[in-house]
Amino acid sequence: MFALKRYTEDLVNLLFPALCNGCGKLLYHGEQYICSHCLFDLPLTDFHLYEDNPVAKQFWGRLPLYAATAMLYFKKGTKVQTLMHSLKYKNQTEVGVKLGQLMGTKLKTNKVYEDIYLIIPVPLHQKKLKLRGYNQSEYIAKGLAQELDLPMDVRSLYRNKATESQTKKARYHRYENMQEVFGVTEISELAGKHILLVDDVITTGATLEACGNVLLAQGIRKLSIAALAFAEQ
Ligand SMILES: [Zn+2]
Repeated sequence: MFALKRYTEDLVNLLFPALCNGCGKLLYHGEQYICSHCLFDLPLTDFHLYEDNPVAKQFWGRLPLYAATAMLYFKKGTKVQTLMHSLKYKNQTEVGVKLGQLMGTKLKTNKVYEDIYLIIPVPLHQKKLKLRGYNQSEYIAKGLAQELDLPMDVRSLYRNKATESQTKKARYHRYENMQEVFGVTEISELAGKHILLVDDVITTGATLEACGNVLLAQGIRKLSIAALAFAEQ
């Protein structure tokens, strides 16, 4: 049976070759979604090891966080951008799960992430969800939850209206705009708990700031954030 399964897999691979989402090259046996070379080459930040890392610093004075991290450096024209693009726009949701799992193995090594009660992905607005079909951050959170053996909560936090094009607005206005769009449904579950909020890429941090403030207003005890990548401003 094993030989047959292997034969079938080989045949499927021959007809529909699986390609790496980072470099586009053929994947070998045992590789899934991202090739070993790309995985080895990932620009890891190691931010999870340092309390005063650049992500944490970005939120100083904006959002009181217990711990903050991002696993990868995000730069335009790099493999990280290609991977993020696959995850976000090309239905390659498993890339998010795989990288989320990898981030989980990192977070496990620091005890500040030990008492997390549940993981919440930053929600996508319904309109965007319908258009894209999925929330990329949910897949990152899924991988993270699997590795950390924690529940993921996609119901408590919601987004109630689409934000208009924000790229040309100043950070202050963007923040004001974001404030209106997040809400919490199941307050009792979250009160007194340590919550880990998960996003794909941190740029201005406006989205996480808005989400985080909504959660903190509900009386959660500790808030931490983890993103796959960090784009230095
Ligand atoms: Zn590759």
